[in-house]
Amino acid sequence: MLVDTHCHLGDVAFAGDRTEVVERALAAGVAHLVVVGESRASTALGLTMAEADTRISTTAGLHPHDARTWTDETAAWLAETLQDPRVVACGEIGLDYHYDHSPRDTQRLVFERQMALAEAAGKPVVIHAREADADVAAVLQAFPAVTAILHSFSSGPALFDAGVALGHYVSFSGMVTFRSWALDALVRATPPERLLVETDAPYLAPVPHRGHRNEPAYVRLVAERVATVRGEDAPSLMDRTGQNAQRVFGDRVGSV
Ligand SMILES: [Zn+2]
Repeated sequence: MLVDTHCHLGDVAFAGDRTEVVERALAAGVAHLVVVGESRASTALGLTMAEADTRISTTAGLHPHDARTWTDETAAWLAETLQDPRVVACGEIGLDYHYDHSPRDTQRLVFERQMALAEAAGKPVVIHAREADADVAAVLQAFPAVTAILHSFSSGPALFDAGVALGHYVSFSGMVTFRSWALDALVRATPPERLLVETDAPYLAPVPHRGHRNEPAYVRLVAERVATVRGEDAPSLMDRTGQNAQRVFGDRVGSV
């Protein structure tokens, strides 16, 4: 069961052919797609897509880039939206000290607020971490009851070790196919029951599509590369990562 655990189908890059992109993924053997809601607009679109097709789920949250837009009204919206059965996680949330689109103290506050809302709703969180490993690890440690997915993992061993020690999931993207990828050791070190694969489409298209728009059908290329690195056969890796996705996101992800 191949699952793309992270794709931004609400992105404007898919405005013209969203239906065809989903159809191509299903035709390529992708059993379920988790559409990421990193804003109210993308969450609304994800909810609509998930309403029309049970092979699609969505998440809800506010990206760290936009943390400065957080208000009490955002908190009320997120608390209510996390109750929706189509919403399988809170995210993507986290910290991004590379772009610093929002002040760092605001990012940390909004990250913690969303962790608390996820805990109250009993939903896992999808974590974006960029050049903020120590602070992300500290927030995860402050919320030990919240299960996290370290999405498109490309951080250092300290955040990896902290996440694995807390029982969190590690999701790898098309970056594993890049010539510059240097974290095969962490791909191998991920516990088998904590491993996930994703595209992060429209970003990070795997080789041989690098430089072009990514789409969920290409998650197979990610899974094949991860299987090769781990010395496993691809079909069983796809099955196991699919079971992991079902365990962390809930039974909706198992419906086909
Ligand atoms: Zn993403």
